[in-house]
Amino acid sequence: MKKQDYHFNYEVFDSIDELSEDDKWLLDEAREVTQHAYAPYSRFQVAAVAKLSNGEIISGTNQENASFPAGICAERVVLAIISSLYPKTPIESMAISYFNHNGESNHPISPCGICRQALQEFKEKMKAPVRLILGGMHGKVYIIEDASLLLPLSFTSHDMQ
Ligand SMILES: [Zn+2]
Repeated sequence: MKKQDYHFNYEVFDSIDELSEDDKWLLDEAREVTQHAYAPYSRFQVAAVAKLSNGEIISGTNQENASFPAGICAERVVLAIISSLYPKTPIESMAISYFNHNGESNHPISPCGICRQALQEFKEKMKAPVRLILGGMHGKVYIIEDASLLLPLSFTSHDMQ
């Protein structure tokens, strides 16, 4: 028996002001787009905005439903739009922000487990990592160079071969 370690690095910024102009713009856009979320139940409005390698900007928000499992997260809305409109186009960066009507919106949130799985598959399909910029309406910002780092030992299509 031997023990394996898993760790990854990510960048931590004290505020959006420390980001490059491109990253700052994308996170600002995500903050703005949170207004389009349909989240009457959680009152937790999430937005994801992706810049694609062809320069297109694709945004999405969480869409809830009275039948709770029918709801979908902002990240997977964006991935579905990209796969439908630009099926062979990798994501350069995806910014994720949120507005929490129940409390603060002052720290980065990261994708839920289902979205991590979806991001992993998207990377596999595009053969390119998805870079994440995570931040609330204010406060610290995290940058993760490859979303799949958030899902170690992931289950992928390779396991089915
Ligand atoms: Zn999710």
